[in-house]
This record gives sequence, C-alpha cells and structure tokens, in this order.
Amino acid sequence: MLESAQALITKTAEKMKLDPEMIKRLIEPEFAHEFTLVIAMDNGKKKVFKGWRIQHNSALGPYKGGIRFHPETTKEEVQALATLMSIKCAVAGLPYGGGKGGIVVDPKELSKSELERLSRAFAGKIAHVIGEDVDVPAPDVNTTPEIMSWMIDEYQKIIGRKSPATFTGKPVAMGGSLGRTEATGRGGLFVLQALLEKTRNSGQVPSPFNDLTVAVQGFGNVGYYFAKLAEAEGFKIVAVSDSKGGVYIKDSLSVDTTMNCKKEKGMVAGCYCRGSVCDLKSGKNITNEELLKLPVDILVPAALENVINEKNMKNIKAKVILEMANGPITKEAYEYLGKKGVVIVPDVLANSGGVTVSYLEWVQGKAGYFWSEKEVNDKLKVMIERAFEAVWRKSASRRMPLKQAAFEVAIERITSAMV
Ligand code: NAD
Repeated sequence: MLESAQALITKTAEKMKLDPEMIKRLIEPEFAHEFTLVIAMDNGKKKVFKGWRIQHNSALGPYKGGIRFHPETTKEEVQALATLMSIKCAVAGLPYGGGKGGIVVDPKELSKSELERLSRAFAGKIAHVIGEDVDVPAPDVNTTPEIMSWMIDEYQKIIGRKSPATFTGKPVAMGGSLGRTEATGRGGLFVLQALLEKTRNSGQVPSPFNDLTVAVQGFGNVGYYFAKLAEAEGFKIVAVSDSKGGVYIKDSLSVDTTMNCKKEKGMVAGCYCRGSVCDLKSGKNITNEELLKLPVDILVPAALENVINEKNMKNIKAKVILEMANGPITKEAYEYLGKKGVVIVPDVLANSGGVTVSYLEWVQGKAGYFWSEKEVNDKLKVMIERAFEAVWRKSASRRMPLKQAAFEVAIERITSAMV
C-alpha cells in the first residue's frame, strides 16, 4: 500500500517535471512518532501496545487524519494512509496536510474500560505533537465518536484548557458537527451526480440518470448512507451486501427496510425488501463476488480494499465505479478497466465528504459557532462540487484518468505552498 501510494505520487510528480528533491519531500513524512502504550488490564496485569502517529506533510495546514485500532495495522500502513490524506485534503481544497495514527489492537478483545484506558493513553502520548493548528486527529477503522470523546477529554486535561477543534468526529454534545455521520455517503452522492451531469450527453453513461441501477458492496456507515441518499434521488439500488453476503432485487430494493431487516437478522442476506415489505420472491441472495459482477450502471465498493482485482476485473459490467472504500481497485484492475472505458471515480475524491465535514467541524469548534444540519450539508455540496470540477477539468484538459488528475491537482496545490 505504501509502495503504491509513493509510486503514484512519484509517477505523477515526474510527469509534472518536478525537481527530485521536491518529490522526496512529497514522499517522506515530516514526522513519524512511534511509541509503546502500557495500560492496566481489568485482571490487574499490564499490557503493552504498539502505536504510531505519522505526520506526512503540512504545507497546506495542520496534519489531518484518523486513528485506527486494528490488530494488523503496521507502520507502513499508517504512513501510506497519512500520505493519501495529504492528497485527499489537497484534492478537497482543505487547508490541511495529511496525518494518520494507529494502534495494533483488536478492540473487540478489550472491555470498555480497557478501551477507554488505551484511548486515553494514546491521547497522552501524542498530546505534545497535536493541537488545533498542529495536527487534528479523527476516527478511522474501529474508532468511534465515543473514543474521540475520551481522547479529547484526556488531551484537554493535559493542556489545562478547552480545545474542541483538536479532534473531529466527536459526539455532537461535545462539539461534533451535525451531518458528520452521513457525510461520506452524502459526499459520494454529490460527486456521482456531478459526474453524471458532465457525462450526460457523452454516451459514456446512460442518460437520464435517475433510473440508473446501483450495486453497493458494504452496508456500513458509508454504504448505507450512500444507498439511502441515492435512493431518495431516484437511483435504483438493486443490490447491497455486508461481510456475510448480499441481496439482489432486479427491480430495486428499499434501503431503510433492508437495513431494519439486517438489524433484526444480523445480516443483509435473506432481506428481500421492497417498500415496507420483506421476503419477496423476486429477490435472491448473492455473494460479495457476484455483487461486483452484476449488470448495473454504477458499482459502489464501500467496504474493503483490493476487492476488484486481476481475478474478477474481466467480469465487471458497471460503466461507472465510485470508490467509496479506500483503495478497492488494484493497480492492474485500474489499468484494465480504464482501457475498457469504465469511468472510475478515485477514493481521494469520492470519499472526501467525511474529511470535508470534519473540516467544517473544526471551523465550528474554532469559532464556537455551530451550523444547522442543512447549513453543513449545503456547504459540503459546494465544496465537493468545487473539488470535482478541478479534477474533471484537469482530466479533460490533460486527457488523463480522474485518479491521475486528482493526484496532479493535489500535488500542484501542495507544492505551490512549499517554500
Ligand atoms: P463500517 O465498518 O461502518 O462498514 C463496513 C461494511 O463493510 C460493513 O457493512 C461490513 O459488514 C462490510 N464488510 C466487511 N467485510 C466485507 C466483505 N468481505 N465484503 C463485503 N462487505 C464487507 O465502515 P465504513 O465507515 O462504512 O467504511 C467503509 C470504507 O469506507 C472503508 O474502506 C473506509 O476506510 C472508507 N471510508 C470511510 C469513511 C467514513 O467516514 N466512515 C471516510 C472515508 C473512507
């Protein structure tokens, strides 16, 4: 992952004829904080955990990026994600650089009080290198608004004053932003609509687009809100899935009824729901692999990385792929599908709605003035459309895929702020 992020930056920067020393500055993180965390477990024994906060590039502003708790996270992964955050924030037009944090831990193996002690210990370790104008952490894989509330509480105790803008993704009661929960899915929909407006008359994508069929892999935060909001805009959601498999209804399913059924059954498989009724005969269960190969207009991978790869790329039938997960398409599949004419909206643009509303949370926290949900959503729309427009124009003028265009836009912005 780190190699491919660095390779893409290097390739783009070389095409832009950037000085090799400038390329080095784009590749190397400015700081890599590595530490051990020691916490008392409920049984009275001490346990050691490994953690990182990597601060990649601060040319455009404070470092920004989540903290993940995962048993398989590594320094390389955290560094790669910090690097991609620099690109994503620059594409989104945010005054931020990129950062990321991580702890090697399976949070499911900890009690709630152990999780709180670990979160507080992490905040304590990074307290001297973060701050609202220095580095602004947020949730990521397996970290929640509650974890952010423990971290900011610990941080504020250490610095001896309130600093609500130092963490984003906080509960609304602690200064979190309205609209943050839905922001990534909502931002993805805005990007998709902006794309379809551009391609409306090109024949690349069928038009009109309000009846386009959509398959969504991953029915968690991102996939669910994307599907729900897209359905409300007239898109036909024909398939959704979670880690246990998915459902396909050719004539379209109902997103909220399907979610309610999933909550009851513990899985989406078997939830054939249209309108308020479930268990229709017209639906069927499908595997995650089958979902990717469905004859749909738009495919939305919103779960894991590398799911579209050499093994299945020849069977992908969608005309548009919206990368809502981070890195769902391998390099080989990207090249193959691009040559085939599939329009791929890159993750650094498609899922930037989350960090954009985190930015709006930061602005609100710094100002001590809070917007309504509508105001937040309206601002998100303006910012996402602006980001899309810059990438689209670059792609059209330089005849390059959207992903390469997004990297070029980002690198131009970052390097023009470097002295
Ligand atoms: P989540 O944990 O809420 O949901 C993940 C979903 O994927 C769940 O429905 C889970 O069952 C499903 N899943 C897990 N393994 C699967 C598999 N093998 N096949 C199909 N589905 C599987 O996570 P999320 O917050 O929705 O994040 C999803 C993706 O979006 C991740 O790649 C994440 O990095 C990315 N992302 C999230 C945000 C955000 O704001 N939440 C922002 C940017 C990017």
